[in-house]
Amino acid sequence: MAVDELTLDDLTPSRVTGPCKVGKILAKLSDTERGMVETALAGPKEQYPHAKIATALSKRVWPVSDHAVSDHRSGACVCGR
Ligand SMILES: [Zn+2]
Repeated sequence: MAVDELTLDDLTPSRVTGPCKVGKILAKLSDTERGMVETALAGPKEQYPHAKIATALSKRVWPVSDHAVSDHRSGACVCGR
């Protein structure tokens, strides 16, 4: 898409819609499951690599990339704002 084809409507979704994919998954889980995922997200990356969490969430709810997990973990996603 060329820059001059961009409208303000194209800019709004990524700014105002939240939470991110990982946050949406967390919202769908039970309290127990969410607690397990949050423990993993807060844990050391050596023990809970992004890819491991992404795979677990992908199997349980819907496909999510390890990049999305990384962003959510570091607070770079919309959830952290
Ligand atoms: Zn997030």
